[in-house]
Order: sequence, then structure tokens, then C-alpha cells
Amino acid sequence: MSELSLLAGGTGTPKLLSGVRRLLDPETIAVVGNTGDDVEIGGHLVCPDLDTVLFDGGGVLDRERWWGIDGDTTATHDRLQELAAEAGLGPGPRYLPPAAQTSGRRIAQHRRFSGVAEFMKIGDHDRAVHVTRTGLLDEGYSLTEVTRLLADAFGLDISLLPMSDDPVASIVHTDEGPMHFQEFWVARRAEPAVENVEFRGAKRATATSAVREALSAPVIVGPSNPVTSVGPMAALDGLTAALTETPVVAVSPFVGDEAFSGPAPELMRGTGRDASTAGVAEAYPWVDAFVLDEADPTELARPTVRTDTHLGGPEDAERVARVALTALSEVGAEVAVEGER
Ligand code: GDP
Repeated sequence: MSELSLLAGGTGTPKLLSGVRRLLDPETIAVVGNTGDDVEIGGHLVCPDLDTVLFDGGGVLDRERWWGIDGDTTATHDRLQELAAEAGLGPGPRYLPPAAQTSGRRIAQHRRFSGVAEFMKIGDHDRAVHVTRTGLLDEGYSLTEVTRLLADAFGLDISLLPMSDDPVASIVHTDEGPMHFQEFWVARRAEPAVENVEFRGAKRATATSAVREALSAPVIVGPSNPVTSVGPMAALDGLTAALTETPVVAVSPFVGDEAFSGPAPELMRGTGRDASTAGVAEAYPWVDAFVLDEADPTELARPTVRTDTHLGGPEDAERVARVALTALSEVGAEVAVEGER
């Protein structure tokens, strides 16, 4: 059983993870990955948040972008774009028709795109992971089992768990209509005004038994997008109840009202929250203590510890992880820090 679990999106928590790994035996760490961002493109299931942890654990992540494989080529992707242009087809994203969104592979419901003019940049080696993942799903493996097999292939020493084996699609409702999170972020760079965010399928989706077990350990919510990375997890039946039962510490992805990166501010405002650390705390009533940046002026009614929360590299990550573990111990968790590894 894991000794510590992290809830992860695709940037902030994977950065923090490199520090946590220096302090604890990696085999005792479980990472629960968001799958609301996942999409099916050209028939292949892409799981961006899981893949960042997978590639990082395998030592091949492009750490400039925090997605994709370092040095990967994009021959197939480039040719897909050229071919679409040569055929006179418009640029992506190109959704499959409504009826196709709920037929075919169940895990891909409501997030199915044609491969024409592929709108997400998928490297050639990266694509091999999606082909393998989808092939295994079609052979009858669950996403949890597939992720375990891929983790073995990449030599991961932590346990990587998709939040659910059921489909949950993060749909951003905007002034230009509803669109999947990946269209909103990758294709539109968060330009359309956000009116709401829906986790389609979440009411029928359940957290896996592996996730429920992992959440009986103390939890660190790394600096994540509260809306589209933690939101889909929190929407799963029983998940916030499990978090309420266990000690949880969250690292803010904001310094006051400044986010480090990504579309969290737009998504927070669009869902009626303050785009700030205060808004994050309000979104996480089940968090027992917070790690805030030393320059963050926010005063919270819950225990707070401060450090420089900029995660520029493994040393920063180790320092922030140490502070988060100390905060966990102050709210009743017993996590044995091994010291320098
Ligand atoms: P995804 O890439 O959309 O899956 O994003 P995540 O859920 O991982 O969250 C990204 C969040 O991490 C953003 O809101 C950023 O503000 C935050 N973030 C990125 N880098 C850092 C950092 O170095 N320190 C802190 N505290 N937060 C960060």
C-alpha cells in the first residue's frame, strides 16, 4: 500500500513529484492522474496528464514543455497536417459527429476527434504509446491495467493510477459554445470566455478501487489547476468523502492572484471562483493545510506553511515537498522521510 498519494494534473504536481521522490521510497508513492483532459484522436486515446508522469518517470519527458518525449520527431503529425491541407480540408480540431461521440470505445465518449489535420502535436514515439494503450483497451484491458503495463515498460518505480476506468470528459462552456478542454486550451489558447465547466460522464463514473485504496494514505494535492485537473477527480462519487477522511495538504498554484502558468485564472473566474489562492482554498474544503509562497499575502483560516513555491528544478521541488510533508505531519499524518536519496 502506498504511504503517500498525490493528485496530479500535467504540470505542477509532476514538477513537485521529483522532490517527493527524493524524500520517500518511490515504491511507497502513488500518483492519481486526472483523465478529464484525455481525448481520442484518429482512433487513439491520448492521456496527457498520465503521460507526463509516465514519460518523466521513464526519464524521457520534454521538461521544457512538460509534455511529450524529449527530442521526439513529428513526421507523422506533420504529414497529417500537410495531407489535410492538400485535400482542401480545414484545420483541426475536427470533432466526430454527435452519434459517434457515444458509440465506439466507451472510454472515449464525448471527446472523439478525427485524425484529420491532427490539432494536438503528437510526436512519433509519443504516438507509439497511444497506439499501444488503445490496442490494449480494445483487447479488453482497463485503463488502470494498461497504465500499469505502460509504467512497467517505462520503468516507473512509483504507482501511477488513472482516477477512473470510466469516461469523464472536461467540457468548457464558452461564449463560442461548448468545447473539450483540449480544444479550449491547445487550439484556442484559452481565448473564448468561459461560462462554465462540465465533467461529462462524472455522475456515472467511479474512482477505481486502486484509487480509493491510495486515498486512504495521506495526500498531497500538488500545484494543479483546481478546475480542470482536480475538478474531474473531485466530481467522482465518494472521492471528496475519502479526502475528507485522510490528512490532505495542498500546494497553491497561485501566488496571491498570480498563477504560475496555464489557464487556471480564466477557468476559476468562469466557474464563479476567485482566481487566487483564496479561490483555491474555497474550492478545496477537504484540504487540512496549505503550502503557500512566501510572497503570497493570502491569510487562510486553515493551517498554512510558507516557502518559495516556484518549482524551477529538483532542488526547489525537494524543498517544497519537505515543507508539504512537514505540514502533513502537523495535521496528523505519519510519513517517514528518508532524507537525501
Ligand atoms: P495542466 O498542465 O493543465 O494539467 O496543469 P496542472 O493541473 O498540472 O496545473 C498547472 C498549475 O500549476 C497552474 O495553475 C500553475 O499555476 C501551477 N504551476 C506551474 N508551475 C508551478 C510552480 O513552479 N510552482 C507552483 N506553485 N505552481 C506551479
